[in-house]
This record gives sequence, structure tokens and C-alpha cells, in this order.
Amino acid sequence: MHAMNDPKRYLITAALPYANGPMHIGHLAGCYLPADIYVRYLRAQKRDVKFIGGSDEHGVPITIRALKEGITPQQVVDKFHAIIKESMEQMGISFDIYSRTSNKVHHDTASAFFKKMYDDGLFEEKETEQYYDETTKTFLADRYIIGTCPVCANPNAYGDQCEKCGSALSPEQLINPRSALSDAVPVKRKTKHWYFPLQNYEAWLKEWILEGHKEWKNNVYGQCKSWLDSGLQSRAMTRDSNWGIKVPLPDAEGKVLYVWFDAPIGYISATKELTDKWADYWCKDDTKLVHFIGKDNIVFHCIIFPAMLKAHGGFVLPDNVPANEFLNIEGDKVSTSRNWAVWVNEYVNDFPGCEDVLRYVLCANAPETKDNDFTWKDFQDRNNSELVSIFGNFVNRTWVLMHKLCNGKVPKLHEAILDEKDRALIEEIKNSKSKVQNLLEEFKFRDALYEVVDLSRKGNKYMQEKEPWIVAKKLPDEAAQQSIDNCLHLCLQLTANLAILINPFLPTTARKMIGMMKVVDKMLDWENAGSIKLLSVGYSLREPQLLFRKIEDEEIKAQVEKLKAGSVKQNNVIMETTTAAESNAKPEIVYDDFAKLDLKVGTILAAEKVEKADKLLKLEVDLGTEKRTIVSGIALHFKPEDIVGKQVVVVANLAPRKMRGIESQGMILTAEDKSGGLHFISPEKLIDAGCGIS
Ligand SMILES: [Zn+2]
Repeated sequence: MHAMNDPKRYLITAALPYANGPMHIGHLAGCYLPADIYVRYLRAQKRDVKFIGGSDEHGVPITIRALKEGITPQQVVDKFHAIIKESMEQMGISFDIYSRTSNKVHHDTASAFFKKMYDDGLFEEKETEQYYDETTKTFLADRYIIGTCPVCANPNAYGDQCEKCGSALSPEQLINPRSALSDAVPVKRKTKHWYFPLQNYEAWLKEWILEGHKEWKNNVYGQCKSWLDSGLQSRAMTRDSNWGIKVPLPDAEGKVLYVWFDAPIGYISATKELTDKWADYWCKDDTKLVHFIGKDNIVFHCIIFPAMLKAHGGFVLPDNVPANEFLNIEGDKVSTSRNWAVWVNEYVNDFPGCEDVLRYVLCANAPETKDNDFTWKDFQDRNNSELVSIFGNFVNRTWVLMHKLCNGKVPKLHEAILDEKDRALIEEIKNSKSKVQNLLEEFKFRDALYEVVDLSRKGNKYMQEKEPWIVAKKLPDEAAQQSIDNCLHLCLQLTANLAILINPFLPTTARKMIGMMKVVDKMLDWENAGSIKLLSVGYSLREPQLLFRKIEDEEIKAQVEKLKAGSVKQNNVIMETTTAAESNAKPEIVYDDFAKLDLKVGTILAAEKVEKADKLLKLEVDLGTEKRTIVSGIALHFKPEDIVGKQVVVVANLAPRKMRGIESQGMILTAEDKSGGLHFISPEKLIDAGCGIS
């Protein structure tokens, strides 16, 4: 079977993130962003596509975290599923469904999958001796067990992997093993499990991957080859645990499906949840199934899950598995335990409205063929020197000049005077579509994005050569106006093309651009790319909108410091979120919510008691340009004569409200101390009334 060229429908999955922590930018760069770019491109092509994702909510790290925090595994996954889902939405990862593996539909689907394989006699039932923690009465597999790595002597290696040197391990290989739950020295005990004999599928896998999918990325193909060359073995598909999908057999009390058995089936369950036509996507040969993952998941998506699908029967197999390598941070491997990471939810707070900038940097620097490094300096440079100075600058210049020299309308193209430079630019526009498209089809997102930005670079160069602002000095000369018209006509058509081409990568930016062009979403259809007739002559366009802002040195410095101070912080974050929830803190808001408040410094000019209302004072407050009457419930705390001349913070855009017949035109901010006393919030020294607060 070879790569499908014209599939009837696309089924795109992105690895299920593990719901025991928030999402970091390495996850985004690894699979969510490339998957989203690909899906947005397919949608712009009007393809039939479903984009499937969800949280992986089973497995050992979740139970360990729950135990350590004294909460239930369900509470752990509820919390992080919500955080991850929100981060995905904020970053514009446009899943058709973002589900979770604790859903009933998934439990049912995964159980049935296992049961069918069991009924078909595809498992081996084996009793083996495994490490057991007598204090917590738990079998210790995978991350339940810690010990010294036999390869690098790391004293905290896990039973399935050493995070320091990356070696895959089994619990038996650990030196001085101890329980991750209690630190107790484990004993050996007999337990029964169901094993999937992968060796039975080795010949088929070799043919399917090594012969049939030579087009897979080198890193993916190479890893599959090395697994297959070293020989496959039976792997246990069940575990001793109470958290997970119960093994659907009568003699399996206290046993659940191995998390890597159930998680990939989550793609099927989520599709079921999304559409009644799920079987069209999963069972018809003319579907193109693509798994986007990080390199640590290659064996599960290229070997184990396809072998499961093949063994079960009736499902399509992945056509491609474009796995990325890892993204390091400032020269060091991402480590969630050391908190060496840039968390997406924190980025969104620190850089509101800059989601596209992160998408841009992570794609421009994507670890597509090797591990790459994210640095805050590079983030700033790419924003300031590529997005602001090249792409944003071209669009802005075009718009400003069009308003200045062409009355804010799309000028005519005077074919008779087209010169060599005009024609060269037209050629560039026409060729751009196939250039970008071919790269996207090959999952070369970094190169594709480069082509788009390069097109705007060419636009800048063209405009620099045509110098419409110099030509304008000859106006009202007719030839001069025609030269200006041609330049701006072509630059505007180029801008429209840029909006279409950038849309899969930077959707918010594309949306701003079509807003400026006053055109409908349909203009972003991929088939329109390469056309130089997207904007009609005489059509009036809106004022320019700034697409990107400069990122300042201080912002970058703050991020680097935050990262370095991080390792201590992680525990605090967890505690803080718990305490915030317990103390009924208000829900988190975005900057835009805060920015809606018009806060001003006011000076109290006069104060008097309101008749028959012992709590109210009527104040006259100077806000610089105007005086306001404000009724405030502070009479029990302040004497009118004491507060005249004091400065206070006023919410100036609060809707007016009548109190005891007096219209109150604003509100004064106070702080309440522990004993209930009220205090004004004031500038630390006297300043002009009316100063804004931000
Ligand atoms: Zn090691």
C-alpha cells in the first residue's frame, strides 16, 4: 500500500496529551500545531476532514499524582483536562472534537476491542512474578517503581524508562528498586496478565512499513526499522490497578487495560462521539488516516496500534505518521518534574493577543527533522524582524499608501504600462500556491511557512523598487498616477494571497486581514490562492489594523527569569490553584476583561451624608476633565470632613445608578482589612486628577 493521493476523506489525529499536567510548548510544536496547520489547509481545500483529539486520562502517573495530593484520580484528570482543553482552544487548535478517555463511550469501545481480540484467541495468558508493594498492596509496574538506572546510574529511573538517559527499562533491570508509592522495598508476587504477541505481526509490519511506506519521514521510518530489526516480543496489554478500563473478563478483578492499549482506541471512541458516520472514517479504504505525534510515541502508533488494528480487523491503517522530534528550551531538555518548560496557559496570560506569534515561532523553528531549541531571544527576533518588519510591514505599508495615494480604494491595473518588475511579481504570486501546497502535502510545515513569509519579503522589495511615495511627488501627472495604481493594485492582490496562504498557520492574522479587506471568509478558500483578481477595482477597503506588535527586551528578560526561577515554583502552582479554588477566588480572566474597566484617579472635592441612609456618603469627585457625583457606602468608616482633598480610584465607566434619588456616576475602590475596616486606594503621592490607571 502506498501513500494515498486522492482520498475521499481525511481522518487526522493528534496524540492524546496526558492529563496530569498543563500543556507546554513542546507539546504544541510536537504535534498539535502541525496537525492543526494541516487540517486548516485541508478545510480551506474543502476536503472532507475530521480532526480528532482528547485527553489520555488513564495510567500510572495520574494515580501517583492523586495519591501524593490526597485527591482522587478523577479530580486530577478533571482539573488538567479542563486546563489542556482551554489551552488548545486559546492556541486555535481546531479539533472537531476534543474528548477524554474517561468517557463511557471510550470505556465501551476499548472494552469491546479487547473482548473481540480475546474471543478471537489473540492474547497469551501468562502468570509471572512482579514486584509488589506490601504496604500499599499494589503491584508495581511502569512508573510505580523507581530505582537506579543500570545505564547511567540515575537514582530516580522509572520501571519503564530512565528520563535522564532515555533508556527503555523493565522493572527487573532497576538497581535497588523501591516503590514510588511508599518508598518500601518491593517483594515479588505472582500475577496474571494478557499479552499481545507482537512477534506474530512482525513479518506483516516489515512489509507494510519497510516496503510499503518508504515515504515516511526518515526519523519515523528509521525508528520503526530499528524496532523491527531487533525483533518484536509479547507485550502485556493489562495491568494491576483500579484506575483505568476494567479488563472485561470474569477472572480479572483489580486489572485494567494497559494505558497504551486503550489510549489510541480513544481516537476511534472520539470519532464515534463526534459523528454517527464514524465508520466511514475508520473502516473505508478511501480514508486517509494520519497520526500526528511526538517521537516518543512512534512505537505505539507505528507498530503496536497498527498491529492491534490489523489483529482486530475491519479498520483502516495509518497512511502516514509524521512524528516530530523534541523541542528543547534554552538549550536544555524539557522536564516537567524540574519545571523546565514554557506552559501554554501561562504564555497566553503573559502575551495576550499574541497566540499567532507563538504559532509562528514554533512552526518556523519546528523540530521536524531533529531536536530543536526554543529560546526567548529567538522568539523576540522572529517576531520583531520577521512578523513585524517583513510580513506586517508589507501589509501595513500597502494599506497606508493605498489610503494616501488611491483614496482608500483598489486602484486600476493599467496593463499597457506593466513593466518587468510588475510581471515578475505577478509570476511570484501565481507560483506561490503550488510551492506552499507541495510542502504542506509532504508535512514540511517549516519550509511552507518560510515560502509564505518570503512572498511578503518579495512584496517589500518590489515596493522598495517601485517607490510609489517618490513617484507621488510628480502628481497629478497621469503617468505617475498609473504607475502608483499598478504598484498598489499588485501589492493589494499580493496581500489577499498572503491572507489565504498564512491562514492555516496564523488563523487570527488571516482573519484580521480579511477584515481590513472587507471581504467574506470564502476568500480564504485555497482555490483562490495564486489569483491576482481577488480584490475588485474600485472596492473601498478599511483602515489598516496592526497585525503584530514589537516585543520588548523587558518582556523577554522577564520570561527568561521566570523560567530560571521555575523549578521551585511548580509545587507552588499546584498549591496555589488548589487554594484559589478552595477560597472561592474569582475565575481567571483575560487581559481584555480587565481592559474594559476605565479606572481613573479622582480628587474628592466635597462630601456629605445622604439623608435617611446612615451608610451612604454623597461625594463630588474631580476627574480632571469633569466632576462626578458618586454615592458610596462608606459613611460608617469615614467622616465627610476628613476625606475632602483625598485622592481615590474611580471606576469611571460603571453604568450610572440611582441611590436614594441621587444618580451615582461611578464607583470608588476601597480595600477591606481583616477587621472589616475600609481604606481608600490612592496614588502614593498627589497626582493630577483624571490620570488613567492600567
Ligand atoms: Zn539512565
